[in-house]
Amino acid sequence: MTESNSRNSLYRLIYASSVAPGLDFSIVKSILENSEKNNTRDGLTGALVFEEGFFMQVLEGGREQLTKTFGRILRDERHSQVCLIEFASCLERRFSGWGMRYLGRQEDVFEKVTGSGTFKPKDWTAERCNDFFVRFIALAG
Ligand code: FAD
Repeated sequence: MTESNSRNSLYRLIYASSVAPGLDFSIVKSILENSEKNNTRDGLTGALVFEEGFFMQVLEGGREQLTKTFGRILRDERHSQVCLIEFASCLERRFSGWGMRYLGRQEDVFEKVTGSGTFKPKDWTAERCNDFFVRFIALAG
C-alpha cells in the first residue's frame, strides 16, 4: 500500500460511542470478525475497546478508506452517540498487523492505564485517548 501522497498518507481516527441497550460482550466477536476482514481489505489497522457501556476505537490508514469505514460505523445501530475524538495525520501505525485488535480488561493493565480503572472516553481529551492506547500496548504487549 502506498502512503506517499496526501490522499494516501497515513491518518488516525479515534472515536467513542455508547453501546446500544441490551447488547453484551457477545456483540464484540461479530464486530471484530467483520472488521478484521474489511479492514485488511482496506489497508486499515486499529483496536477496539468495549468497556462500561462504551466503545472506543482507533483506526489507522488512508484518508479515503477511513472516511468510508467511519461512515458505515456511524450508521451502525449497535451503538449510538458517536463522538469523534481525533482525526489527524500520523507518521506511523501503532497497530501494524492488526486488522482490528481487541483491547480487553486485564485488571492491572486497565487500572494502570486509566489511573482509576474507570473508562469514560467521551470525557477524555484526544491526548488522553492516545495515551491510553500507547500505554496499553506498552503494558499488555
Ligand atoms: P454486511 O455485509 O452489511 O454485514 C456483515 C455482518 O455484520 C452481518 O452478517 C451481521 O452479522 C453484521 N452486522 C452488520 N451490521 C449490523 C447491524 N447493524 N446489526 C447487527 N449486525 C450487523 N466495520 C468495519 O469495516 N471496520 C471497523 O473497524 C468496524 N468497527 C466497528 C466498531 C463498532 C463499535 C461497531 C458498532 C461497528 C464496527 N464496524 C466496523 C461495522 C460497521 O458498522 C458495518 O456494520 C460494517 O462495516 C458493514 O460491513 P459489510 O458491508 O461488509 O457488512
